[in-house]
Parts: sequence; structure tokens; C-alpha cells
Amino acid sequence: MEMPEKQCIYCAKKIIGRTDKKFCNSYCRSGFHNTQNGSTNNCIRQINLLLQKNRRVLANIYASYPRKKKVPIHTLFLQGFNLAHFTHQQKHIKFGTYTCCYDYGYKLIGREEVEIIRFLI
Ligand SMILES: [Zn+2]
Repeated sequence: MEMPEKQCIYCAKKIIGRTDKKFCNSYCRSGFHNTQNGSTNNCIRQINLLLQKNRRVLANIYASYPRKKKVPIHTLFLQGFNLAHFTHQQKHIKFGTYTCCYDYGYKLIGREEVEIIRFLI
């Protein structure tokens, strides 16, 4: 009876022996896990940079607009704000939902304006 053929998922060499093995040796095993962790860390780093950039934009605008004043949303976009990236959302029964980047949050007012607030943590 023929043994099912398997490949090392790191170097693609044929694996001889036990069919539940994924790697031909421990070198391939650690090589594979290192690249996995490397790309995960890269992804986390990229998203962290985007979140920090968003926070910086909110902080800049917050500092230059009087409190409670509505800000045209294009002001955020002009500074490179990206709506897709935020850390969390905070719901207030009275004030509605704020989308946050760390300690700053914004709430859409209509379709073209936002109100920015800072949460004191
Ligand atoms: Zn291998």
C-alpha cells in the first residue's frame, strides 16, 4: 500500500515517515513560525501607525476648534484621516455613539460634519 505523500509547509520538500508531520525538521518549524510572527507583527505595526495618525489628526483639529463646534469632515480627510481605522466606540445614551482613536473620539453630525471630543481616561 502506498503512503500518502506530504510536503514540508516551509521548504516544500517531501516528508518521509509520519503523515501528521508538517515540517521536515525543527529548522523548518522555527523558520515557518518566525515568518508567521514577522508578518503578524508587521500588520500590527502598520495598523498602529494608522491609528496614531488618526489620533494626531483628531488632536490637531480638536486643539484648533472651539469646543462643541461642528467640524467639516473634509478637514479630517485633508489631514489624512482614515475612517476605517479606530480603536473602539463609546455609546452615550444622551450624546450618541463616538468612534474613537485612543482618547479622542468623533461623532458624525449629518453626513458632512463631525464633533470631536477628548475622553479623559
Ligand atoms: Zn522543510
